[in-house]
Amino acid sequence: MKRRTFIKSASLAGAATVIGTKALSEGSKVLAGAAPAWQGGPVVLSTWDFGQEVPQAAVEALAKGGSLIDAVESAVMIPEADPKVTSVGYGGYPDREGHVTLDSCIMDGNGNCGSVVFLEHIKHPISVARLVMEKTQHVMLAGDGALQFALEHGFKKENLLTKEAEAAYKEWLKTSKYMPAVIDKSNHDTIGLLAMDGKGAMAGACTTSGMAWKIRGRVGDSPIIGAGLYVDSDVGGATATGLGEAVIKVAGSFLIVELMRNGKSPQEACKIALERIVHKQPHYAADKGFLAGFVAMNKDGEVGAMSYGRGLQYTLHKDGVTRVIAADFLAK
Ligand code: ASP
Repeated sequence: MKRRTFIKSASLAGAATVIGTKALSEGSKVLAGAAPAWQGGPVVLSTWDFGQEVPQAAVEALAKGGSLIDAVESAVMIPEADPKVTSVGYGGYPDREGHVTLDSCIMDGNGNCGSVVFLEHIKHPISVARLVMEKTQHVMLAGDGALQFALEHGFKKENLLTKEAEAAYKEWLKTSKYMPAVIDKSNHDTIGLLAMDGKGAMAGACTTSGMAWKIRGRVGDSPIIGAGLYVDSDVGGATATGLGEAVIKVAGSFLIVELMRNGKSPQEACKIALERIVHKQPHYAADKGFLAGFVAMNKDGEVGAMSYGRGLQYTLHKDGVTRVIAADFLAK
């Protein structure tokens, strides 16, 4: 994946570093250095670097008159459909039984939300999560029930295990002794994405195949409203990546939104949430491979991003420019 190339070339010495800048359309300005104050217009913020077409899809959906939900859904559908992305949707690495199981959620800024967990055979779990939100009185559907619901709504049952993912799984089986995986940079990378229109309204989506080689049935933070994603247009939104168990334990995304509600900046709020994780569960801090991270945005278009261990990147589209930025990290 591209992010590894970026990590090699980036200076990850500390504070957020801009490591790639791409103009989305002709005429938009490419700026060097830290992101300037928001000029208005859509802002799209997401975990990692899944390519500039991801924020572009969100911006285009809004430009065509689509809703913020259309914007976040169409953006995260790109990595969901990409067989080269081994941590989201089609092509995702399987659980330790060899099954690809997907977790997704979607939320607008007015408390409307939907989620699917432990869903198999459906390439776009985010679209199923959206239907749960729009067509049912529920928030979350799981496993076979989620699959049945998807099939009833016209989704196609597909094999999501690519040849490459199967080969990686077989390789893992040789040496793993079937031990549940420890999360590290090689076996995760969720896309959590927040989009805001020019007026401060916001929506978010989060979608993943979860930790590679996980115990069958394991669900992480990503599809859990308040853990992997939380949005409130009165305040802002947050979304997470990394070890889902750690994020769930502090209701990470909700915590960040509440900290912003109480006056913290998005950056301060991300930092406090990470400090909370290691304060309550110090064993995470002792683990060299531990990575949990958040990105957050308030309704003034101010953004924050931080991970525990070094290595988180985020993609920010603001004022017509997309940047891939190395996030600050706590464990210095
Ligand atoms: N948060 C995800 C999970 O625990 C992993 C990731 O970010 O890739 O399932």
